[in-house]
Order: sequence, then C-alpha cells, then structure tokens
Amino acid sequence: MQHKANMKKLIAGNWKMNGSLATNEVLLAALAEGLTNDRPSCDVAVCVPAPYLAQIQALKLTHSSLSVIDVGAQDVSAQASGAYTGEVSAAMLKDFGCRYVIVGHSERRQYHFETDALVADKAKAALASGITPIVCIGETVAEREAGRTEEVVRRQLAAVIRGNGHCISEVVLAYEPVWAIGTGKTASPEEAQAVHAVLRAQLKAATDQSARVKILYGGSMNAANAASLLAQPDIDGGLIGGASLKAPDFLKIIAAAHV
Ligand code: PEP
Repeated sequence: MQHKANMKKLIAGNWKMNGSLATNEVLLAALAEGLTNDRPSCDVAVCVPAPYLAQIQALKLTHSSLSVIDVGAQDVSAQASGAYTGEVSAAMLKDFGCRYVIVGHSERRQYHFETDALVADKAKAALASGITPIVCIGETVAEREAGRTEEVVRRQLAAVIRGNGHCISEVVLAYEPVWAIGTGKTASPEEAQAVHAVLRAQLKAATDQSARVKILYGGSMNAANAASLLAQPDIDGGLIGGASLKAPDFLKIIAAAHV
C-alpha cells in the first residue's frame, strides 16, 4: 500500500556554514516579502548556524509574514551539559526557540566522524528537550554503485529506532544520498521514492505511528525539480541546502509543496 501523505509537507532550509548578520537580514526580508501574499500550505523551517539563532528570532518579530517559518539548528550535543567545550546542548537550542535540529548530516558523519550510535544519541537529546530532530541518512556513491543503498539506509535508520524506541514517530527523517548533496546531481523521483518506500516499511515495522513520520528528500533539490520529487507518495518534504540561500528559489520550492 502506498503512503498517501495527507499531512502537511515540510520544506526545511539548511544554510550550512553560510550567512552573516547583513546577508541574513537581506535573505529574510526577501522571504518575508514573498510570503506576505502567498501563505504556504506546507510547514517551513530554516536551519541556521547557531550564532544567528537570536538574530533570526528577532527578524521574525520584525516581519510578521515570517511567523510561518520555524527555526532550526544544524547540530546538537548528545550531552545535556558540562565539560564539553564547543558543544551546544538541546536545552540551549530550546532557549533560542528552536523547533528543529538537523542531526547526522552527511557532512558531520564525514568530517566529524559521527557514528550511527552518536546520531541516535543526538536525536534522543533533541527529543528530550522537545525539539524535533531531522535525522539525515543516505548512501555514498560507492555504496550505491555496490548495490548497498538499502542496506546502508536501513542500518542508519535502525540505529535511530533502537536508540529512540516509541519516540521514533516524533522524528523527521531526511533521505539524502551523499552523491546528490551540493553536486547538482539529484536522485530521480523514482530512485528517491524507492528508498523512501523502504524507509516507510521499516518505520511501519517499528511503530504503528509510521504514517505520521515525515520523510524528506534532500540532495540538490531546486526550483525546477522540486515539484516532481514532492509528488512522490512517500516524499513528505525537502531538506534544501544551496537553494535555501536564494529567496526566489526557496519560495518556489515552498510553493511546490502542496499537501
Ligand atoms: C543539504 O545540505 O542537506 C543539501 C541537501 O544540500 P544541497 O541542497 O545543496 O544539495
């Protein structure tokens, strides 16, 4: 049976390590203008570098049309507090009004050696503070070429299910094939849907609430390809990197995300 998403889709921007006080202001003003006459029918979030969380919250108060945008962070510590220099806890993110936090992005798995177990712990820490983790999973090009896509994403998701028990229905999943991130190469709608269906089935075996888990696609989603990806039955939204830094593109993706 195909998942027919009658829940709102989620379009989440991942700004990565980009932005400045000045450019953030320009970007949000442009988003505010675009959203003034065009209220989105999907949920929208921007996941910004932690130092800018306060600025983004302040800009939301300045532009009333930005009230539809939730704010997220890009990483969180698995620890609650203490001697962990440089880390930011989930409670701190909550203090700054974060609704979401990305965990396990492939750039963190690759450059910061984050393991499946650590990603699961980070998701748990976020949930304990009332923040929805956007858990990223996805295979590398070598894994895809070796026919190991399903095995890899199932392993990554299994760790999060194991670490989070019945709370698994509270997470957002993002399938992001590593070879598609920032490369301009997108999984075709059919390739993405095939993996999303595998993940949906795995969630279904873990919880009777699987239908409410949003599974986002991420990897070079843009204004031109968003509609066809978002039309797939198990694609419940998008995690958008590069295109989320360009207001006209991000607005077009938001407009493409109908229920
Ligand atoms: C991402 O960083 O999560 C991402 C999907 O990036 P891009 O859209 O630039 O491929």
